Amino acid sequence: MVKRQVPFFNYRALFEAQEQELTAKVVDVMRRGAYILQQDLADFERQLREFLGVKHAFGVADGTNALIIALQAAGLGRGDEVIVPSHTYVASAASIHLAGATPVLVECRDDHMIDPAGVRSAITGRTRAIMPVQLNGRTADMDEIMAIAHEHGLRVIEDAAQALGSRFRGRFAGTFGAAGTFSFYPAKLLGCFGDGGGVVTNDDAMGERLALLRDHGRDSRGEVVAWGTNSRLDNLQAAILNVKFRTFTADLDRRRRLAALYDEGLRDIPELLLPPAPGADPRHHDVYQNYEIEAERRDELKKHLEECGVRTIVQFGGKAVHQFEGLGLTHYRLPRTELLYRRALLLPMNTSLSDEDVRYVVGCVRGFYGRG
Ligand SMILES: *Cc1c(COP(=O)(O)O)cnc(C)c1O
Repeated sequence: MVKRQVPFFNYRALFEAQEQELTAKVVDVMRRGAYILQQDLADFERQLREFLGVKHAFGVADGTNALIIALQAAGLGRGDEVIVPSHTYVASAASIHLAGATPVLVECRDDHMIDPAGVRSAITGRTRAIMPVQLNGRTADMDEIMAIAHEHGLRVIEDAAQALGSRFRGRFAGTFGAAGTFSFYPAKLLGCFGDGGGVVTNDDAMGERLALLRDHGRDSRGEVVAWGTNSRLDNLQAAILNVKFRTFTADLDRRRRLAALYDEGLRDIPELLLPPAPGADPRHHDVYQNYEIEAERRDELKKHLEECGVRTIVQFGGKAVHQFEGLGLTHYRLPRTELLYRRALLLPMNTSLSDEDVRYVVGCVRGFYGRG
């Protein structure tokens, strides 16, 4: 008997929650005819700089282009190896490939973040950079990653698409290395109404290159001074993000509250491996882009939840990067990651959920494992 419907994500609710403000803003932008590289984008970039405490921030086309541009600005390309976890969205590895470099895939740990031991053993004479992926709203152990990078003279490009607002030892995801990138895809922590991305850096030279790369190599006078591409965040999307930014900190707190509810409700079930609870490790401030559990009898659990009206998904199409035949990387053997993909499940986690929704999901999961 279905008592409740809990969708995995409610796209329409994003608009409904702030309908008047958003409508007014969109109309305002269109009345002004302000579409490309206009004031709303400049305002958004300033907000992003101030939020993260970084020197440079650029709104770009999407999170994938943010990564490509960041790699290019760091001078990475043909012949260079970049170490990246296989448990990530294909875009992390694809950006390395599209920048002309070679992705080298490594394992994740029980918290689903890049494994520093795996990074160490993947280093070769061609390794030039590490791309930690700050997944599910958590930041990897950046003490270890930065130590390895310093020891071996490697650049760090952070894929923080899923981690705007996440911190490690008080420092924001995306601000540790040469550059960090974000996605504003609608279902991301800070989502616009289409594609959008951002790239940030504290390095002035890097900032200059990023500014050129995202706008056809044009400097502030409009003179073409380098090869560049077209990767600009639409001014309209930036205006929408400026509205969304007003509630962003409260939205992140809400996600932490929902994660705490899941943790309280599920932590005694031995068949489950849960994400670290909010505050479980004081070095990490997690913001729960996703709530990714590992579950015994995962497929049966997923089916049971569907019958309860609860929609879940297996992240990234149910495959690690090295498991997609078409990418030519199937020779990798990454047992921890492969185990994860047999067991991983995303429970609903977003700001449209009520406490009751989460309690209902918890009850359904408990029922499945005979712990009603
Ligand atoms: C969403 C995402 C990206 C890509 O962002 P887009 O804006 O969709 O291009 C890259 N890496 C990770 C880990 C992501 O989750």
